[in-house]
Amino acid sequence: MQCLIDRIAPGWLPILDVSPGWYALLARLDARLSTIAPGYVLQQCKSKFGSLSFHAAPSDDVSDYNEEFNEAIRAAEWESIETCEVCGAPGAQHVVNLWVSVLCPAHHSATIRAPGGSAG
Ligand SMILES: [Zn+2]
Repeated sequence: MQCLIDRIAPGWLPILDVSPGWYALLARLDARLSTIAPGYVLQQCKSKFGSLSFHAAPSDDVSDYNEEFNEAIRAAEWESIETCEVCGAPGAQHVVNLWVSVLCPAHHSATIRAPGGSAG
């Protein structure tokens, strides 16, 4: 995911706050965005309420608007809500410990059987 981290604009934290299950999805999104806008800049990439939250712009010119670019991001965000955050398999959103996660059936049952510790 170094390719995406290198895209992060100055002033933003150079981290991708998403689980490994979404890396393949992000790699595909990066490939698509690079085709549409080779110089695109990433501002923030994280998981929020069980879906991908991806903020990027076609260039560092704030007035630059590209419908296809935004559509590609929206499509990836939709795809994320059905992609297990752990392994990338088809999944669904579940609330685990008051936190929304996207999990496939296997990882969902694993989470239920092994609840987190009492800390916090
Ligand atoms: Zn899974």
